[in-house]
Amino acid sequence: MNLALYHPVAPSIQTAKEQTAQRTILAREAVAAMKRYFFVDQLNQELADNEEAKDAIATVLCDFAQVSWNTDRDLNSAMQAVTWALALNISVDKRKQVWIYEEQLKDLYKKHVGIDICHFCAAAPHHRKSSIFQPLYLETARSARVVDFKKMKVEVPRCQRCEGFHSKDEGRTGLAFLGTLVLFVVIGYFMHAILIMAALGFGAGWVATKLVGGRIMKDDIVRPATNEVLALHPVLVPWIEDGWTLEKPEP
Ligand SMILES: [Zn+2]
Repeated sequence: MNLALYHPVAPSIQTAKEQTAQRTILAREAVAAMKRYFFVDQLNQELADNEEAKDAIATVLCDFAQVSWNTDRDLNSAMQAVTWALALNISVDKRKQVWIYEEQLKDLYKKHVGIDICHFCAAAPHHRKSSIFQPLYLETARSARVVDFKKMKVEVPRCQRCEGFHSKDEGRTGLAFLGTLVLFVVIGYFMHAILIMAALGFGAGWVATKLVGGRIMKDDIVRPATNEVLALHPVLVPWIEDGWTLEKPEP
């Protein structure tokens, strides 16, 4: 059956699937491209009377999901494709098939993400040299002014792409902080109030890093290496449940 007869979107997804299988592109790149031409509401409208076509598109999406997993170990892209398939107004039989497939992906997610697939993107296997060595703290005693604690480092695995992404992110937030601080100091110089403006600049710089960090993350499907995200990592969860913390205990 010629997929182009159903809708132009179908052969495009088919091509993306083949290119991913041949490793010409990454599954995540294929998904990013699909976002530019795959619009669920529009498809449901245009194909309102053509269930067969929507079923065919759902089938291609599931095939793509399978290739994403098999070729790239990319569960994030696989999940996205299956979510799109389920958002189409497909037949009851097709929906049952896709649901089974969705369940299998959820099982894979539980089995692999954070174990041998990257916790931050769910889209690539761990890379041995990209781990984070995360310090953990356990408070042992506390008095009015002093806190005693144990400290250790735990290896948190990650994929190579996320390592690059996180360090670029750190670079950008660092730049945002420095840029804001310098701006405030320069203004302070002209106002003859350097110290006050520097102090304000620190605060504003901190806000700027939050803004920059937040914005980068929305553009990409990579979770930042913040304490909130790290606390959910399967490697760290057992330690945190035992009372260890990511932040150094403060008196
Ligand atoms: Zn990753």
